[in-house]
Parts: sequence; structure tokens; C-alpha cells
Amino acid sequence: MKPPKFDYFAPDSVERALALIAEHGDHARFLAGGQSLVPMMNFRVATPSALIDLNGIADLRGIRIDDEHRLHIGAMTRTREIEMDAQIARANPLLHAAVPNIAHMQIRNRGTIGGSLAHADPAAELPAIVLVCGAAIQIVGPGGRRSVGAMDFFEGIFETALRDGEIISEIVFPTWPAARSWAFDEISRREGDFAMVGIAAWFDLDASGKISASGLAAIGAGDTPLRLSSGEQILIGRSPGADVFARAAEAAATDLQPASDIHASAEYRREVGEVLVQRCLQTAWERSS
Ligand SMILES: Cc1cc2nc3c(=O)[nH]c(=O)nc-3n(C[C@H](O)[C@H](O)[C@H](O)COP(=O)(O)OP(=O)(O)OC[C@H]3O[C@@H](n4cnc5c(N)ncnc54)[C@H](O)[C@@H]3O)c2cc1C
Repeated sequence: MKPPKFDYFAPDSVERALALIAEHGDHARFLAGGQSLVPMMNFRVATPSALIDLNGIADLRGIRIDDEHRLHIGAMTRTREIEMDAQIARANPLLHAAVPNIAHMQIRNRGTIGGSLAHADPAAELPAIVLVCGAAIQIVGPGGRRSVGAMDFFEGIFETALRDGEIISEIVFPTWPAARSWAFDEISRREGDFAMVGIAAWFDLDASGKISASGLAAIGAGDTPLRLSSGEQILIGRSPGADVFARAAEAAATDLQPASDIHASAEYRREVGEVLVQRCLQTAWERSS
């Protein structure tokens, strides 16, 4: 099926893209990898009158680590580039490990990190990684530049804090401590399918071997990626171990807000979510000890 007709623009600067969206208004959409937008157009779920293609804007691409060891990823960086980048494997191994779970290689070759965040599918991996890492989403728009923390960015199913005419320019991940324990796991029906449930987990230890900070996030278990703070709190101040991980998983499951659909029931998702939290924490601990 082909999409309805649309006008097409290929600006080579952010300024020109912003001018074009101002000119074409509500009925225009930015085009990144096209891996969500084009299927939506083919199915007539989205019928933009104009596409403003961000692929020619070099300023929106690239991966760098700044002097404070924060990881910066341009919004138009392809998912596959993240997967193949050796410095990301060191600068944020959780992100690096989660990315191969996204769709298939052909889709990762085109899909972008900015497109995934803007699309905000609650079952998508990158929104949860951004959330659990406490990353900041840099935005440029008619009102200038602003930065939105991941906790405030995802507002509902396919709903974000992006305002009309705004572009995600970059995602900034905080410094990743070298000794951090981490894991990502998800359950999907087939390899490459969206996850029915997925969990991202990390924790840090203090000098006495107690957990001093932690992050748990879920995909496929609510209208947005979810931070599982009840589980995180159980971990803080305790020594890592199977009992603590089981208690944290039980608490984390109370933060899940799963729904039933054709793929899985809410009960199944909650139960799998709890199992995955426990499994991720154990994997994280075994890998680092
Ligand atoms: C068969 C299939 C399976 C998939 N499986 C998975 C999966 O398992 N996990 C997963 O996470 N994803 C999956 N995806 C989605 C894929 O990862 C998409 O690439 C991603 O969701 C959207 O990125 P994109 O660059 O293609 O964005 P596009 O499709 O080009 O754009 C998506 C939306 O974001 C907006 N947008 C894009 N970039 C920006 C920007 N910089 N600033 C503001 N708005 C912007 C667009 O206007 C549009 O509304 C799958 C897709 C397909 C077709």
C-alpha cells in the first residue's frame, strides 16, 4: 500500500527545517528513518500534507563523549550506528546491549534514536533506556532551545513533551560509572518483534558493598516506559543477593501498569515483568562480581 500524496522538503539545516514546519504548520511532519512514520502513512493512520526530511542535516547526527564523560548522541544517529559503536559499548553498555533487541537489522539501519523517542511507543527499547539512565533530551524549536529530562518527556501512548514544530536535536546520557552493574532483558513472541515486556536495570555499590543507587525501567507494561521506583527503593542500602533481588522484583511489579491485548494478558505481563526484574538484577550482579 502506498501513502497518500504529500509535498517533500529536504532542508540542510535545523533553521531551514524550523522555517519549513512553521510554513506548513500542523499538517507537516518531520521525517527521520521513516520506520514508524511511513508505515503509519501507508495505513492512513498519519496523512501529513508535507514531509520535512531531517536526513540531510549533519548537525543532528553524531556520537561524542564530552570532558565530563557524558555521552551525546545526535537525534538522527541510526540505531545500527549505536549498536556498532565501540565507544558506546564503554560509555553506556546498557544502551549498547538493548539496541540489538530493536526490530531487525534492516530497520535499525534506517531508524534513528530521535525518531524512536519522538514516536514514543511504550514497547520501544530506547525510551526506557533514556528513562532509566536519566538522560536529557535536547530540543530546538520556534521558542529556542530547551532540555527535557526523560522523566518528563514521555506523557502517554505516542505522546511526548514535544511542542508543535519542535525537533529533538540530541540526547545526553549522564556519565556511566565504570563499576556499575547492569542488564537488559525482554520477552517477545519472535526475534525482532516489539517486546511484550522488557526490563532495564542497573545498580551501583558504595565502599561497604551496599547498593547506593539503582535504576529499573519497564517497556510494554504501561502507556509509557515506566520507572519502577518501588523496586529501586528496596535495593538502596542493601547488599546484592538473590533475596534482595526477589523482594525488589516483587515491589517493582506493583509499579507495572500492564494492559491486555492480542499478544498477552495483563496478568502475564505483570508476572513476566517481575521475573525479568529478578533475572536482570541477578545477571547484572553475576556479570560484575
Ligand atoms: C516491522 C517493524 C518492527 C519494529 N520493531 C521495533 C522494536 O522492536 N522496537 C523499537 O523500539 N522499535 C521498533 N520499530 C520502530 C523503529 O525502531 C523506528 O525506527 C522508530 O520507532 C522510529 O524511528 P525513525 O527514525 O524511523 O522515525 P520516523 O518513522 O521517521 O518518525 C517517527 C515520528 O517521530 C517524528 N520525528 C522523527 N525524528 C524527529 C526529531 N528528531 N524531532 C522531532 N520529531 C521527530 C516524526 O515526525 C514521526 O512523527 C519497528 C518498526 C517496524 C517497521
